[in-house]
Amino acid sequence: MKDISIIGSGFSSLAAASYLAKAGNKVTIFEKNATIGGRARQLKREGFTFDIGPTWYWMPDIFERFFADFNKKPEDYYQLTKLNPAYSVYFGKNDFITIEDTFEKICIAFENEEPGSSVKLQKFMDEALDNYNIAIKDLVYRPGVSPLELVTPVTMKKIGQFFSTISKEVRKEFKNPRLISILEFPVLFLGAKPSNTPAFYSFMNYADFGLGTFHPKNGMYSVVTGMKTLAESLGVDMKTNQNVERILVNGKKASAVVVNGETIATDVVLSGADYHHTETLLDKTYRQYSEAYWQKKVFAPSALLFYVGFSKKLNNVEHHTLFFDVDFQEHTNVIYDTPKWPEEPLFYASFPSKTDNSAAPEGKEAGIFLIPLAPGLDDIPELREEYFEKIMTRFEKLTQQEVKKYVIFKESFCINDFVSAYNSYKGNAYGLANTLMQTAFLRPKLKSKKVNNLFFTGQLTVPGPGVPPALISGKLVAGLIQKNKKL
Ligand SMILES: Cc1cc2nc3c(=O)[nH]c(=O)nc-3n(C[C@H](O)[C@H](O)[C@H](O)COP(=O)(O)OP(=O)(O)OC[C@H]3O[C@@H](n4cnc5c(N)ncnc54)[C@H](O)[C@@H]3O)c2cc1C
Repeated sequence: MKDISIIGSGFSSLAAASYLAKAGNKVTIFEKNATIGGRARQLKREGFTFDIGPTWYWMPDIFERFFADFNKKPEDYYQLTKLNPAYSVYFGKNDFITIEDTFEKICIAFENEEPGSSVKLQKFMDEALDNYNIAIKDLVYRPGVSPLELVTPVTMKKIGQFFSTISKEVRKEFKNPRLISILEFPVLFLGAKPSNTPAFYSFMNYADFGLGTFHPKNGMYSVVTGMKTLAESLGVDMKTNQNVERILVNGKKASAVVVNGETIATDVVLSGADYHHTETLLDKTYRQYSEAYWQKKVFAPSALLFYVGFSKKLNNVEHHTLFFDVDFQEHTNVIYDTPKWPEEPLFYASFPSKTDNSAAPEGKEAGIFLIPLAPGLDDIPELREEYFEKIMTRFEKLTQQEVKKYVIFKESFCINDFVSAYNSYKGNAYGLANTLMQTAFLRPKLKSKKVNNLFFTGQLTVPGPGVPPALISGKLVAGLIQKNKKL
């Protein structure tokens, strides 16, 4: 039995904690914030409830696989509903495409937009399903230790797809710009622009159109509380308001963590906090990656978020609504190529109270608005206000209703908050992008090369950004810790 100290309580830490406790270790989680869940914390105000971070529950099979490892099911902890419609996408005033809950209905929506497109969509989705079976059922469960993990007879047949991009593949088949942006949207969850994301990642399109969009009652935070219940039932000790200030190393071994000024001895340290930050907790000689290394990496976007309470129900919006009425390319360019605040931002809005009455008091609506931004931009209160005004004006015009005067309150969260709340590098929202050069063994390693008993997990490691990958990351790192006989 080892004494294992885990830094942070995001999904990857919670997953790893359960696996490590089940294997018989004494596991303690140290979380700097007052509540657990990391980027998936919850905000409650005036009877409204908001997920602060993730809102899309995709890839239900991964959650099932996680709980099954403990002979449990998601429904033992939270109630899941498949959303219909899954989401809608606005392209102009009262002009939107709705994506429903079955592939057949989605084909009809495509046909309405471009006759003949459903045949192309079927072909695209066959490939996407094939990639899903290869990637999500197998490859992502490999720990990124060696390049050989990716070399299998099936991946060899797909090699071309690693060197083509989602953008190219989608454009080969589809000419309609609206359908193109709908098909490019799912890979945005992987953190890079579609023209820099390998075509092999079309498995995200299968997750979208093939598996669908789900909603856990009371929001994504109920997954956090479910995982907490599971971890605690296995004996994990969860401590909040515990800031890990240093990792002490003796020889090539981490001997203790310093938490709120107190030195706590440990056998193993596992960090689910942002990788760059974790390395700053070590003396320089024990850090693996230089500042120049991090500077060169492609980070997933940061975001400007608003959590808004409305005093009335809103019309013409779904639980998930995307606003793609402005140039997609221009916005992605200012995120990745020439970082600056976008002139006319794309934005996403979620109204959980459309399908879940626990999200807002009766007759009222909870709204979450998200504008993706380049990490590291200047974040000042005046800009937040300016952008709120900008998107509300567009929102009113596009959905043809007054909303500004019904705002009871709004809270914002942006780059500076990502840094202060999570010690996030440049305020990134969801880690390191999954580009070709930042995939699998090319990502920051789960195990430190310099400190024998120091491990990492989470969205900056393998497999990458998102809640399902975080669960997998926790499992992978727990496996490496268990297998390591030298600890
Ligand atoms: C706005 C937003 C929207 C998103 N939308 C989606 C979505 O819809 N669907 C989806 O699947 N994914 C989404 N994601 C991504 C997903 O939320 C993340 O990939 C995932 O939650 C990351 O989990 P993690 O375990 O890597 O780490 P984190 O959640 O970042 O947890 C790290 C924890 O470490 C703690 N910590 C940091 N430093 C210290 C320290 N020194 N001492 C103690 N504790 C420390 C932090 O406080 C934090 O709690 C979204 C993310 C954001 C931010």
